[in-house]
Amino acid sequence: MMINANTLDEETVWRQLVARDRNAEFFYGVSTTGVFCRPGCGSRPPLRENTRFFGTPADARAAGFRACKRCKPEETVRPSAVAQMCAYLERQIDKPVRLATLGKLIGMSPFTAQRVFKQAMGATPSQYQRAIRANALRNQLRDGETNVTTAIYDAGYGSSSRAYEKTPLGMTPGRFLAGGRGEKIGFATAESSDAGPLGWIIVGSTERGVCWLALADSPEAAEASLREEFPAAEIASDPTLQKAVATVLERIAGGGGKQAQNLPLDLRGTAFQLRVWQALQEIPAGETKTYSQLAAEMGMPNSTRAVARACATNRVSVLVPCHRVVGVSGSLTGYRWGVERKRQLLKAEGARR
Ligand SMILES: [Zn+2]
Repeated sequence: MMINANTLDEETVWRQLVARDRNAEFFYGVSTTGVFCRPGCGSRPPLRENTRFFGTPADARAAGFRACKRCKPEETVRPSAVAQMCAYLERQIDKPVRLATLGKLIGMSPFTAQRVFKQAMGATPSQYQRAIRANALRNQLRDGETNVTTAIYDAGYGSSSRAYEKTPLGMTPGRFLAGGRGEKIGFATAESSDAGPLGWIIVGSTERGVCWLALADSPEAAEASLREEFPAAEIASDPTLQKAVATVLERIAGGGGKQAQNLPLDLRGTAFQLRVWQALQEIPAGETKTYSQLAAEMGMPNSTRAVARACATNRVSVLVPCHRVVGVSGSLTGYRWGVERKRQLLKAEGARR
């Protein structure tokens, strides 16, 4: 997103300028000195009538301002720049993206774009793009419900909303690229008590929290799903996780909701995925939303398909309740762990559809 002067709310940015808010994402030029700064600059605050606001250093330059030597506005990357580049790469998944394009996107040089990206992500933009592509393909191949879910993935690539670039959120750790290389993941399985269509659940956890929560037909299939998702990780049974499994089962049965809520999660995904998964956690039990409702509530009404794709790539079922998102008119659409299980989970929560 290029913040342009038209979309900046002058009251807000002025307050941020006066407060020297370093995280504010705009630049300001001072007409009396011809210099532009970023918020947080130590120089004397300008008079408001002499101040102009810009979304990027390039805009400020184009308006005839030169960079402040004190705060060096062209060398500082906005906090959301990496998320913004990720979002762009995710949308251009099938096309090579030039560094110059990324640079332009965040108002920096191609070199700076590359450096900042690599620093934050542990991978170059093209490596990142390849990983996303491989991931999406793997998910497609793995998914039994090819019809609906694959269609959702495929469709996601065509999404062209720019809205979701607005908010910086999580960042994809470099380790995401390696399928969990060098990581230890413990797991425990249990059969769900009603032994209905839910079958077996597996909780996989790193030292940071639950990274995999899947439903399967047998304990073997459950373990295999974990190994497939994190092929490079060191995976071992961990009986101490039985408690977490029990908590999840209680949560499914309708009790222990609070406790389950407190299980720490270790979610890995792109900035966009993390945002969607966060929004899913805010849908209360017993309620459902459609993909388009969710997209609209997240402020990106044109990203319905991308939202659906992020739901379909959720790795932590139940706790990140992607089952609470349904199609228009309440149809169940796809579910990574089987539509019948989705139906069962919603029924257990007493959701009306
Ligand atoms: Zn300055």
